[in-house]
Amino acid sequence: MSPHGSPLRGSMPPEGTDPAWGGPAPDRMSAECPKGFEGSYLGNRDVLKPGSRLECKICWWVFDPALGDPQWQIPPGTPFADLPPHWRCPNCDCDAEQFLLLPD
Ligand SMILES: [Zn+2]
Repeated sequence: MSPHGSPLRGSMPPEGTDPAWGGPAPDRMSAECPKGFEGSYLGNRDVLKPGSRLECKICWWVFDPALGDPQWQIPPGTPFADLPPHWRCPNCDCDAEQFLLLPD
């Protein structure tokens, strides 16, 4: 008995062979416009880099990964993406998704 063989095989569309399967391609858009967009990061932590700083759009408090967040006992060096899901702005208590990604 071998555990080899993917059970997913056959359930996925063939790659590059079916022109009808375009699907939404958000990757392409983000690749063309990696930064400079307005608005929040929309909860998409994939766009965040380890050193990304984010600014609260309510009170303008800035989370800097190099500093962490003493109020939430977040140690320095913690990327925004690694903050706990329940983390909120320590200054105004707004949701983390309200934060704006600052340009490098
Ligand atoms: Zn805030």
